[in-house]
Amino acid sequence: MFTMKGKTCDWELVIGLETHIEVLSNSKLFSGASADYNPTVSPNTQVSMVDVAMPGMLPVLNEYCVEQAIKFGLGINAEISRHSRFARKQYFYPDLPQGYQISQPADEPPVVGRGWVEIMGDDGNPKKIFIERAHLEQDAGKLKHDVHPSKSFADYNRTGVALLEIVTFLDTKNPENNSYISSPDEAERYLREIREIARALGVSRANMEEGSMRADVNVSVRPVGSTEFRTRTETKNMVSFKFIKSAIEYEARRQIEIYENGGTVTQDTMRYNQGDGTTSVMRSKEDALDYRYFPDPDLLPIEIDDETIERIRATMPELPSATRARYTHDFGLSEYDAARLTETTDISKWYDTAVADNASRAKGVANWMISELFAHPENWDVKNEKSGIVNEMRIITPSDLAELVDMLGENTINGKQAKEIFIKMLDGESGTPREIADKFGMKQMTDTVAIEAIVDEVIAKNPAQVEQYKSGKVGLLGFFVGNVMKATGGTANPAVVNEMLRNKLA
Ligand code: ADP
Ligand code: MG
Repeated sequence: MFTMKGKTCDWELVIGLETHIEVLSNSKLFSGASADYNPTVSPNTQVSMVDVAMPGMLPVLNEYCVEQAIKFGLGINAEISRHSRFARKQYFYPDLPQGYQISQPADEPPVVGRGWVEIMGDDGNPKKIFIERAHLEQDAGKLKHDVHPSKSFADYNRTGVALLEIVTFLDTKNPENNSYISSPDEAERYLREIREIARALGVSRANMEEGSMRADVNVSVRPVGSTEFRTRTETKNMVSFKFIKSAIEYEARRQIEIYENGGTVTQDTMRYNQGDGTTSVMRSKEDALDYRYFPDPDLLPIEIDDETIERIRATMPELPSATRARYTHDFGLSEYDAARLTETTDISKWYDTAVADNASRAKGVANWMISELFAHPENWDVKNEKSGIVNEMRIITPSDLAELVDMLGENTINGKQAKEIFIKMLDGESGTPREIADKFGMKQMTDTVAIEAIVDEVIAKNPAQVEQYKSGKVGLLGFFVGNVMKATGGTANPAVVNEMLRNKLA
């Protein structure tokens, strides 16, 4: 629900996302040229005759890209079409040497049909977001306007690389069905879910910063309780979660204001202005392009049989949603922690290795990973340069962290010592946490008689603070704990110290 200040009408947002993810594959969708166009590759070195539409060159479908699409389709619980076609979507732009983009027809079922993903809705409950389709298409090249003061350059390395476009569904026949994205936060959660699924399956790096994931954002608003959808606008080519949320927010407010002033919203294509977070009209519906889609005469239809689907299904790993459920149900992690630990498969694999089904260390390992390891990117190593997906902890291994968490659980060391061992490991100290603790004489003082002697001493030395504490300044407990810890060289168990002090000062 979206309430504009000072107005009485409540509005709700209706959001549709068209998300493009770059398909991971050695070669392009219809040519043998390398699909790895990363910025270190020199311009126009990975371009085949097919990519630049030399006369007489024929496209040949890369079946691996189709398998990737099927894999993703199974990952979003979708129907896989047994039969689909490619069509030419025609328009002119200098980044498109063919003069048309090979895509799948908008009015026919593409390779991936109706599916859904589950996200956390704004009300905290799971919410299904329906997906209408996901189709394969070619990416365009890249224009470079910043190389020369008066010339533009075209780099066709990216031309023809396979994209999967995933389109969310709006149930226009049943507008009361709310299985669509209805807030900026839900949009972000949906995109993160798509990203996690794509990465877990190895279908795409799905990285917005590098442009391997981009989204067109459709937004409309309607009064709460309304039984129809209103006109939407579409903001093109968004490449950051932050900008997507800001664009939705701005568009929604702009449209609500128009309606509240008695106006009508026109179905425009917008651009987002990063500088001030506003949107402005790029082209209006009247100038809408007529792409004149027609079936590509050079390509056979995609035919997929049940065996292929079952063969791919058999290779499917546990998907992030299932991993998250396992973490929250079996290990008692919060939804937030479970989400952080499933951002990539490598992170969840690392976590699973460290926990090794020992539920008693599950929370400790999660806390250490999220608050300490993630804060030290130097510990992460990109093992597979090409996919960029496989991260591996370089210095601290899963068994190191498991041992550290176990030592804490056994009270062999305290939190402060654990932190010191952790830092030593990051700095390259050799040995396991137990060996490091031994080497540096780190042992938690658990001898309660010895601790008690120090506690008594601290109390005796500070009569004024004792008086204040007893007259109600209970905040002073920290002062006493600090002094005891100092006197023990930080080796006492803080929980024991706390309890002892509380009893003695009562
Ligand atoms: P096009 O291909 O012309 O952009 P589509 O009908 O394929 O249009 O829709 C694109 C996206 O816009 C889909 O995700 C769809 O759910 C969404 N959409 C359609 N109508 C609306 C609306 N009234 N409000 C918000 N989103 C919408
Ligand atoms: Mg569109």
